Amino acid sequence: MDHVLHLKCLICGKEYGTDEIEYVCPDHGKEGIVDVRYDYELIKTRISPESLAQNEDYTIWRYKPLLPIAADAEVPPLAIGWTPLYKAPRLAEKLGLKHVWVKDDGRLPTASFKDRASAIAVVKAREQNAAIITTASTGNAAAALSGICASMEQPNVIFVPEAAPPAKIAQLLVYGSTVMLVKGTYDDAFELCLEAADEYGWYNRNTAFNPYMTEGKKTAVYEICEQLNWDAPDAIFVSVGDGCIIGGLHKGLKDLLAMGWIDKMPRIYGVQAEGSAFMYEAWRDGEDVLTKAPVSGKTVADSISAGLPRDRIKALTAVTETNGAYVCVTDDEILEAIPALARGVGVFAEPAGATAYAGLIKAVADGLVSADDRIVVLNTGNGLKDIASAMKSVEMVGTKANRVAPNLDDLKRVMKEI
Ligand SMILES: *Cc1c(COP(=O)(O)O)cnc(C)c1O
Ligand SMILES: [Zn+2]
Repeated sequence: MDHVLHLKCLICGKEYGTDEIEYVCPDHGKEGIVDVRYDYELIKTRISPESLAQNEDYTIWRYKPLLPIAADAEVPPLAIGWTPLYKAPRLAEKLGLKHVWVKDDGRLPTASFKDRASAIAVVKAREQNAAIITTASTGNAAAALSGICASMEQPNVIFVPEAAPPAKIAQLLVYGSTVMLVKGTYDDAFELCLEAADEYGWYNRNTAFNPYMTEGKKTAVYEICEQLNWDAPDAIFVSVGDGCIIGGLHKGLKDLLAMGWIDKMPRIYGVQAEGSAFMYEAWRDGEDVLTKAPVSGKTVADSISAGLPRDRIKALTAVTETNGAYVCVTDDEILEAIPALARGVGVFAEPAGATAYAGLIKAVADGLVSADDRIVVLNTGNGLKDIASAMKSVEMVGTKANRVAPNLDDLKRVMKEI
């Protein structure tokens, strides 16, 4: 871990050694989120675009020298990372653009982007011989922690709102986690989980609170840039709930710029649902994210329902420091984006994943991107996570199945009708 310099508080700027604090800066309670700072000159002696070109480990661990873990750390056996980056010419054409790619993180082992972060959590917990790991989650972070723990026989306790989609709860139960369905919102589950971790001494994976989650999430942009031969895109679209993913993307890009592997900072666009638009509002109105009151957090895209985004400081700078923007879309626009993305490029996303594409549509309409921009849209979650929303989405665009008796005559009747 000689490549990690310190943990820097985003509020007061105080720097801590990695063995001085575990999670947040103690001067600001749970809001004292810290950033992991690295010795890039040292890292450059251990990894380079050339060494990566020879590396046959196509998981996030190919970037191990850039992660806050020891070189000999035990890592989970599941294949996390190196998800496909699909060229999407039909989506591009429909929007009057030239270059659109879709990165499909619905392909990760537990079917969401969260595997990238939970993988780091489990490695860090093992580093400390933690008996139990815990997290609160809207569903996917929990499923990710649950699945990765199962692969390493690591006991864990999960807190999710009782209204989480059944598929996500099923994942937790199948993987064998101890599951707490919290009678309340994600924000309630988060608070309870923090208290429980404190009470029982569990290792805490909670988004933002645990500074290493950002570090796992940043691997997505390493992959995007490597998949594009280190020619960074002009713009990246991603949905935002707690803001940890968007902060992670920004962090990864800053790493790559600092090491000179890319030569420009892409603009980052955060997409939020209208009913859970804390970041969008704060950005639009220039509000202080530390004092702004929570919003209701109501949206069909359960994975980005966050009344008070936990990683709001990083989420705001990701957009302001890259000359990007926040974009806000309605639940109907999110649902319509599910079949549009599936039919345009073959990627089936859950609502929060399709939100990024809905955001691109909106950004084009608002003139935020230009036709020549090279644009990456991140699908963060698999469509099978939320079948109820998927069925609603096809209903909205007027697609339905045909009912047919098991004989050719009836088939002919149906064929004539359609
Ligand atoms: C968690 C999640 C997001 C949002 O990530 P944040 O870090 O909370 O902003 C988006 N999409 C999916 C599918 C997710 O699971
Ligand atoms: Zn501080």
